Amino acid sequence: MVDVLVIPDGGAQPPRNGVPTAFEAAPTPVLDELAADGTVVRVATTPHGLPAGSETGISSLLGAPPRARVGRGWVDAAAYGVEVPDGMTPWRADLLYRSGKRASIRQARDACVHLGRGAHAVSGHRLVLVAAERPASIRLLGLHVLVWPGGAAPEGEVPVETLVVCARGAAAGLARLLGARVVVPAGATGDVDADLRAKAQAAIAALSGRAERVVVHVGGPDEAGHRREPEAVIAALARLDRELLAPLRDAVSALGGRLTVCPDHGTDPITGRHDPAPVPAVVWGAGVERAGPSRLSERSVRSVPAIAPEELLRAGSGAVAA
Ligand SMILES: [Zn+2]
Repeated sequence: MVDVLVIPDGGAQPPRNGVPTAFEAAPTPVLDELAADGTVVRVATTPHGLPAGSETGISSLLGAPPRARVGRGWVDAAAYGVEVPDGMTPWRADLLYRSGKRASIRQARDACVHLGRGAHAVSGHRLVLVAAERPASIRLLGLHVLVWPGGAAPEGEVPVETLVVCARGAAAGLARLLGARVVVPAGATGDVDADLRAKAQAAIAALSGRAERVVVHVGGPDEAGHRREPEAVIAALARLDRELLAPLRDAVSALGGRLTVCPDHGTDPITGRHDPAPVPAVVWGAGVERAGPSRLSERSVRSVPAIAPEELLRAGSGAVAA
């Protein structure tokens, strides 16, 4: 059976009194239809003790939940093809202004010239620093090189043949490291300007291939959340509904398959930080009963017991009490 999972990265938000979350505010007729007809659940995508983030949440949703903190450097090195010699470790670093504003790719390239061998400007403000020990965070050219904490390389393997449609970023790196195939369609930027119709087409094309599971990752909501732009998160979810979920729903329905929508974690658009709270999700399609709240939102699932991400595959068939 065709099984499609859509991950709106950082799409969930901590509910605040009197303020609708992006899931509550965004016009999402397709998501509303899936929620009304399918099973709405609450998913603990961030295992206890691990940091909320794509390294944790996407691994969990792919069916290979990490047991220890994942080093983002390993993920980005895999995503961008950075070679890591034996005995060395890739470290993720950001190039930022003092205000936290992100530097440009040009500034990142200049910084790498100064940092010397082992420094790679991989995308935008993102650097991968290959070194034996964790490099210090430093000031450079009036900017800050902020080195992320280390961690293990992702371990484990996706349990079923999986194809991931995504931008060249964390989702691609994790998918490769966990043994999934990766398709990066043209126009996949990892941000709010991504061509979501192209992602839908790539996913639909993959449905007739070998993959048992097709996963579509959408980075826009998380990026807008980090920029602390609540309206942009709402717009990103509305566009995801129109340009990605609508064609996927039709294709999955025609093939008698299942469609799941689940964020990898929350991102708070007020603080710009990730949120480890369990997220709302929906499973819809063949053999899925109507269960749980009839709308998908952080508040609607508040009293629903959280399930593990690997249970999502079984959710909706009566195996999970929702
Ligand atoms: Zn993020």
